[in-house]
Amino acid sequence: MLGKENLKKTIKITEKTVECPVKGCNEEVERQKNHFKKESKFKCPKHSIYISPSTWEYEEETDNLLWKDECDLDLLNNIKNVKRESRMAHDNSEDALTWNIFRFLEKNKIICDFLKEVIGISDDDSVKDVIYWSYSQSQRGLWSCLKEGREEFETKPDKGSEPDIIILCNKSLIIIEAKLGAPNKICLSQKIKKPEKVERNYVSGGDGWWDKVFSSDFKTLTKKGGIEKYELSRFWLIGSWIASQLNLNFYLINLTLSNKEENIENIFKEHIKKDGPKIFKRITWEQIFEYVSNNKLSGSDKKKVIDYLENKTLGYKNENLKKAFLCSPKTGLKSKIYD
Ligand SMILES: [Zn+2]
Repeated sequence: MLGKENLKKTIKITEKTVECPVKGCNEEVERQKNHFKKESKFKCPKHSIYISPSTWEYEEETDNLLWKDECDLDLLNNIKNVKRESRMAHDNSEDALTWNIFRFLEKNKIICDFLKEVIGISDDDSVKDVIYWSYSQSQRGLWSCLKEGREEFETKPDKGSEPDIIILCNKSLIIIEAKLGAPNKICLSQKIKKPEKVERNYVSGGDGWWDKVFSSDFKTLTKKGGIEKYELSRFWLIGSWIASQLNLNFYLINLTLSNKEENIENIFKEHIKKDGPKIFKRITWEQIFEYVSNNKLSGSDKKKVIDYLENKTLGYKNENLKKAFLCSPKTGLKSKIYD
């Protein structure tokens, strides 16, 4: 996997070519434009990566994953039976990052401790299932409660909401929506052809559940020119409904970079009802980085994940390598561009 340590700080880009970003490599490939393509003319023959001016794709998605022993790959294959799309071979894939972090927390049995410390679930809570992209490990398939939620609220339940991570605990239901580069700012019309029908279902589903959990109407939250939080809104709606069916506390977590969506809690909280055991919270990748660094866990997995976070980049902007995370416990606050 490529990171700060084996990447050039700057790369040469011309009208027609891009150089391979790996340190010491003199290969140049044809410059690709618009939509990213995995074609041989964009591939560095020495490093087997497909290059664009800002990022690259690995030959295999496992090249971008930290956890890939037999049981990891079994789980990933099962996930793919229910997951909608996968771009995990792309260096800037938020799914790959999500897998690398949450699978680490899960496998090392610190996910419960993490939830207590970073998300704030109560001390007597415990984890029952970690559901990746709607695949329930305990049910070995699409999580049935999510399926019911989709059927209750969505016009196309088969293509319905797919939270990145759902953690089912004894006392809580936690939905985590992870973002790496792309913002939450998504309005309904960007995604859906018949917004009126979608609105009708969302607002009337669950016996008018919308009005129980939102203080603003559907259009305010989802329309262009409103707050344009379609994804967060539907997770809040469906998640809180599922949690109430299961008699659990509900947490919707927006996981972002520390310099992104800084005000999202205040913005979103203005539109949701505060009564009942429902919490909306923003946490950052940097907080997770800090949590892992401070965790007393020892062993090679921890070292592997810290090295990964330390070296993780967001590819290149204007020929300069961009660091993914603003602060690192080792180096303190630094600029996003390596100097
Ligand atoms: Zn190369």
